[in-house]
Amino acid sequence: MRTFHAGFERGYPPVRVCIGAGVRHEVGAEMDARKLRRALVLSTPEQVAQGEATMADLGARALGIFSRATMHTPVRITEAALAAAETADCLVAIGGGSTIGLAKAIALRTDLPQIVLPTTYAGSEATPVLGQSADGVKETLRSPKVQPEIILYDPELVATLPLSLTVTSGLNAMAHAVEALYARDRNPLSSQLALGGLRAFVTSLPRVVACPGDLTAREQTLFGAWLCGTVLAQVGMALHHKLCHTLGGRFNLPHAATHAILLPHTAAYNADAAAEMLVPAEELVGGPIGSRLYDFAASLGAPLALKSLGLSETDLDEAAKLAAENPYWNPKPIERGDIRGLLQKAWEGSHPH
Ligand code: NAD
Repeated sequence: MRTFHAGFERGYPPVRVCIGAGVRHEVGAEMDARKLRRALVLSTPEQVAQGEATMADLGARALGIFSRATMHTPVRITEAALAAAETADCLVAIGGGSTIGLAKAIALRTDLPQIVLPTTYAGSEATPVLGQSADGVKETLRSPKVQPEIILYDPELVATLPLSLTVTSGLNAMAHAVEALYARDRNPLSSQLALGGLRAFVTSLPRVVACPGDLTAREQTLFGAWLCGTVLAQVGMALHHKLCHTLGGRFNLPHAATHAILLPHTAAYNADAAAEMLVPAEELVGGPIGSRLYDFAASLGAPLALKSLGLSETDLDEAAKLAAENPYWNPKPIERGDIRGLLQKAWEGSHPH
């Protein structure tokens, strides 16, 4: 089997995962099972209603809500949340990567246990990784302290995700899987997880787009998010994630949409150098990985051009320079000129081949 390669080691954190419609209502029972009594609920300002519904589920176990979670986890927000969490004995985060990032940032400083209810497909809930920002600089760290202990995946929560974010967030998750297939430190299990994650999205994302309230399809996409997040935690990422971090950090582009636009281009860039590792994915999508991912994204109505996110063409030289300066390991050597060419196509939204 192509996904097998000998000689590997693997360790797993003890994480409890529940998937199913209505599982969010079990949040209080999960606390009781661990003798936890006082939860600080976390959300973004946009998802405060979902946070308040979680407080209702928690009843007297809810200490309060902190609803100022923000993308890129600014340290000043974490400091305000720490004050609110002073008498809490656990955190309950309901939201996407931004809200889960805030829970992780508090846990890093307090070791409070985290129960998370993901509402996007970004996958942060499954990783011991935290990105946080201060003074315009975003730093990423890895610590077992930030890995959430309990994940409750409820398809009814993700069913409220607007269609545009549903598509870009799904492609964001698929990007973790594509890069995991050719990761330098991949192992047979990570490759199977990555393929399983890709398969879940390839089959169920079109169904979700056709019928956003289809809870069976939504549940499958959450299963894919779990697999893709798990694999993101296990192996190193390459050119694609480097470019997304560069564009997101330097030019403040939206996280999921940037991933969605770049994925066909970064996959095409690595297609020859990682040909053997990508064979199972190409079988799954039915052809050359970059082309098929571009067609898949287009068929779902995803944004295809970086210019549509407000990036100026004159910024492409700087982006290519930054991406080539401290490159992550990548199957194909990263040459600044080649990256500039890749970025031009992604900026225009043209086909990767
Ligand atoms: P997000 O959490 O920033 O959410 C985007 C917007 O959508 C927010 O306004 C949010 O309130 C809203 N939203 C989310 N779910 C919703 C729902 N079901 N219904 C209605 N509105 C909803 O977006 P994201 O893409 O999930 O997270 C991006 C952040 O996560 C970035 O900062 C990224 O760096 C981080 N991230 C971290 C990791 C990690 O392992 N550390 C992994 C992936 C992403």
